[in-house]
Amino acid sequence: MAPDVVTMDKIVALCKRRGLIFPASEIYGGIHNTYDYGHYGVLLKRNVIDAWWQSMIGDRTDIVALDSAIIQHPKTWEASGHLAGFTDPLVDCKTCGQRFRADHLGELPCGRKPSKHPGETPECELTEAREFNLMFETTIGPVKEAGATVYLRPETAQGIFLDFKTVLGFARKKPPFGIAQVGKSFRNEITPGNFVFRTLEFEQMEMEFFVPPGEAEQWHEHWLRERMEWYERIGIRADHLRLRAHDAEELSHYSSATSDVEYLYPIGWSELEGIANRGDFDLTQHAKFSGDKLEYFDTASGERYVPHVIEPAAGVGRTVLAALCDAYDEDDVGGGPRTVLRLHPRLAPIKVAVLPVVSKDGLPERAQEVFQMLRGQMQAEYDEGGSIGKRYRRQDEIGTPFGVTIDHQTLEDGTVTVRDRDTLAQDRVAIEDLPAVLGARLAAPWESPKLATA
Ligand code: ATP
Repeated sequence: MAPDVVTMDKIVALCKRRGLIFPASEIYGGIHNTYDYGHYGVLLKRNVIDAWWQSMIGDRTDIVALDSAIIQHPKTWEASGHLAGFTDPLVDCKTCGQRFRADHLGELPCGRKPSKHPGETPECELTEAREFNLMFETTIGPVKEAGATVYLRPETAQGIFLDFKTVLGFARKKPPFGIAQVGKSFRNEITPGNFVFRTLEFEQMEMEFFVPPGEAEQWHEHWLRERMEWYERIGIRADHLRLRAHDAEELSHYSSATSDVEYLYPIGWSELEGIANRGDFDLTQHAKFSGDKLEYFDTASGERYVPHVIEPAAGVGRTVLAALCDAYDEDDVGGGPRTVLRLHPRLAPIKVAVLPVVSKDGLPERAQEVFQMLRGQMQAEYDEGGSIGKRYRRQDEIGTPFGVTIDHQTLEDGTVTVRDRDTLAQDRVAIEDLPAVLGARLAAPWESPKLATA
């Protein structure tokens, strides 16, 4: 297989250069590995989330959507076990004053000598590990002392469990059925890093699938398969994906079986999504703490039970990062190097760029007409500034699959060229056929051209 050209530094630089993702609060020097998404980043992220919703509620009828609150009743986190157990082990170095995750020491640079790991130099003086809760705390009410301490949710899942009974009441569903949601979660990560892989605030795409207890294992298998296939459907190469089952020590307190979908990031195989069999842990705990019955009564069989839960929990930022890493490529076009994102057209922020070859002779006006025609049908962009070569490079770097070029021939015969980002083929197409031609190409099955070189 050809060696991969992608590195994390190249992805970070490209994202900043093209305004996809860049450091937050930059005018104040940035803040703790926190990032903002610019125009193309927002579109890419939205396409990832749309593809997820499509697979959850568009392609199937056994899942309903939910958008629950970020701040929930504080008892939520007592019941879920997060207050007592959602912790990371932390060590301080008395020499450099930095804090490190005790279980990540081997991956982190020493505060004084970055070529070494913490604890490896004679000067390092590490404290015993202490448990550090990852939940962000805040207060409801005007006076801190008198107010109620609440938490920013560290996962979206618990909101789903709190609403289980309500949703059951109106959704007209019975197990097996799921409740899906996408939203922000917050974790006070001690060692965030690796771009958007680990940040303090991040979006999750989580679905809790409630099943009769006897069917939990088979549904766990089902979701492992489904989720792996989903990543392939959005264009991630199969040989960059794997499933890894947690061993007994690694399992969370609520889980009887978890497998992670891992992606081969430039930093190595790392978690993209966790798919857990949570059993009846959450519903039982919330029933105990709230005094409410959280169970399902099957009127047909007269059976009453607490459903078991299978949870595929994915991260939006990690999926965006995987898509970017997988799509990143460098090649040579017409004697010049180019950087190109070979994104699946479904994920590409812009589907088509409309470009007059020169910004005179009536070409911009004609190109504007073409742009206005296409923009109602797909995310399109008009660009007339700079040389045509530079404009192609710019579109290649944000992964635009098609470029439509308006030239002098267009004025004569009403045709344009359609340039393919990956093959670089240029076809002459009549303007009135463009919506159908581009629509068909966008809908066609897609295989990463990087596979061809593998
Ligand atoms: P890790 O072991 O990498 O900290 P986790 O096992 O704690 O992750 P889960 O609690 O299973 O993560 O969360 C589900 C998903 O949410 C993860 O697979 C990941 O995609 C995403 N996620 C979790 N924490 C973060 C974070 N700090 N930044 C970005 N995404 C995250």
